[in-house]
Amino acid sequence: MPKEIAYEDPAVDWETRAYWEGCARHELVLQRCGSCGAVQHRPRALCASCLSGDIDHFVASGRGEVHTYTTIRQNQLPSFAGAVPYVLAYVELPEGPRLLANIVGCEPEDVTIGMAVRAEFVSTGEFAVARFRPA
Ligand SMILES: [Zn+2]
Repeated sequence: MPKEIAYEDPAVDWETRAYWEGCARHELVLQRCGSCGAVQHRPRALCASCLSGDIDHFVASGRGEVHTYTTIRQNQLPSFAGAVPYVLAYVELPEGPRLLANIVGCEPEDVTIGMAVRAEFVSTGEFAVARFRPA
């Protein structure tokens, strides 16, 4: 039985702080542009669609579906080495963005494209990391 991935505290800066603080509250926080309405992730100071600086944060549903994925079978980093095999996926959120995250709660061979998943959060100490499990 593989061990859990030992997530470390993320590198937080002023652009990403609201996202990581949301994860610490077990909320998936995305950005919405006040000018054009685009929803984006990763967090940025400007809208990636229209370059407006009018950016708001909101709590997403936490739902999503697997857009694509890979099964990691080798990773030499100590935090991950004991956890192989594990799944890394792009999860498409109903709000629009795709989030790169682990899929847990099922065997890697049971993950499928289009599978409905729900976010959960693993504490890293001060913050937390989002990952998904079958809904
Ligand atoms: Zn915009």
